[in-house]
Amino acid sequence: MKGRSTPKRVSKAKTSSRTVSSRKTGKKKTPAPKVKYPDIRRDLERQRAAILDETGEVLTNRPDLEAFPDVSDQASAEMDQNFSMRIRDRERKLLKKIDEALDRMNNAIYGICEHCDGEIPYKRLKARPVTTLCIECKTAQEQEEKARR
Ligand SMILES: [Zn+2]
Repeated sequence: MKGRSTPKRVSKAKTSSRTVSSRKTGKKKTPAPKVKYPDIRRDLERQRAAILDETGEVLTNRPDLEAFPDVSDQASAEMDQNFSMRIRDRERKLLKKIDEALDRMNNAIYGICEHCDGEIPYKRLKARPVTTLCIECKTAQEQEEKARR
């Protein structure tokens, strides 16, 4: 290890523009995002667990349809399937909303109206934690939807 004393990085990026820092700097890693509404987060997580619990029960309380190669068995199980599919569909949608709400919490944008960027009052969030709209925007949206019908 002798002789070559030339440092690896000589160019101070006077001519070569590609050495200009391409990676994002400035933002420090935030170890734990501040949760604005810890109690609502708890509510959401509890609700999420309850849904998972419930849907898990629906699924385990009846035979797995895919495991039934027999057609007649499948037909008799169809009513069951429709029922649980309906539940699952509804639950899945809610679950998705809950996940999204938790996601927004992690990104510190929870409680901010998607439409007008206004803060959604705590009371409304507490009552409807998965909401993404303030009451004004929600009302406006509902009226719009009604008008469209
Ligand atoms: Zn709004």
